Amino acid sequence: RDADEHPLVVENLRKTFGGITAVDDASFSVAEGSLTGLIGPNGAGKSTTFNCITGVHTPSAGRVTFRGDDITGMAPHTIAQQGLVRTFQIARELPEMTVLENMMLAPKRQVGERLTNAVVPGLRGRVVEQEEELLERAWQQLEFFEIDHLAQEYAGTLSGGQRKLLEMARALMTDPEMVLLDEPLAGVNPTLEEKLLDRIHKLRDRGNTFLFVEHDMDVIMNNCEHVIVMHQGSVLAEGTPEQVTNDERVVEAYLGG
Ligand code: ADP
Ligand code: MG
Repeated sequence: RDADEHPLVVENLRKTFGGITAVDDASFSVAEGSLTGLIGPNGAGKSTTFNCITGVHTPSAGRVTFRGDDITGMAPHTIAQQGLVRTFQIARELPEMTVLENMMLAPKRQVGERLTNAVVPGLRGRVVEQEEELLERAWQQLEFFEIDHLAQEYAGTLSGGQRKLLEMARALMTDPEMVLLDEPLAGVNPTLEEKLLDRIHKLRDRGNTFLFVEHDMDVIMNNCEHVIVMHQGSVLAEGTPEQVTNDERVVEAYLGG
C-alpha cells in the first residue's frame, strides 16, 4: 500500500512469550490523518501489538514500516525520532518528580542524541537553547491539556484522570506525526474523557494520525471512522464502526470471550 496514504503498515506480525502466542500473524495498516480504533476482547494482543510497533518488544516475526521505512525491532527512542510514539495503558509518570519535570524527561534522550552528533564548538549554547525550547513546548502542552496549574505538583499527587492527561501531553513532547493510544480513557471521569477526546480531535484536525485502543464501543462508534478488530492475536475484521459491530464473527468473539 502507498506509504503516503498509510503511514503505518504492519505485516504478518507475531510475538510469542515462551509458549504463549500473544500476536499471531496480524496484518493491518493505518490511514494518514485517521482516528482508527483497535478493539478486541481482553488478551486479544492489542497492547503487545503496540509494544512491537513502538520497539518496546522485538517481534518474533513480521514487519513494521512507518512512512515506508522498516522500523521493525528498532529502539523506542529511534522510532519516536521518526515521528511515531505511544501512550501506555498504565501511565508511566515518575511520581516523585513534578509534572513539569516529567514533561522535560520524555524527549531528553533524543535531544541528547542530536547534540552528540552536533559539532562541538557552540555546544553549550545549544544545550541552553534546546532546554529553553523544550521548556516552552512543555508549557504549551500543559496548557493545551489544561494541566498547567499542576506543573509544580508532584506527579504522584495527580488523580487517575490527570495522569492520563499528563501521559498524553508527554507523548506529544516530541511533536510526533502518529500516536498510538492504549486505553487513554480507562479510569477517566466523563468530564476529563470529554476533554481528552476533544484534544484528540483537535490534534487530528492539525494532521496527526491516531491508532486508538478503547473498550467502550460507544466511544469507538462516535469517534473512529475505521476500526480494526483483534481476537486471539489476529485481525478478525476491519471496517467502519457500523460494519464491524454488525459482523457476526465480531459479536461471537466478544460473547464467546
Ligand atoms: P490486550 O492488550 O488485547 O488485552 P495483551 O497484548 O496485553 O492483550 O496480551 C495478549 C496475550 O499475551 C495475553 O495472553 C497476555 O497474557 C500475554 N502477554 C502479554 N505480555 C506478556 C509478557 N510480557 N509475557 C508473557 N505473556 C504476555
Ligand atoms: Mg491491553
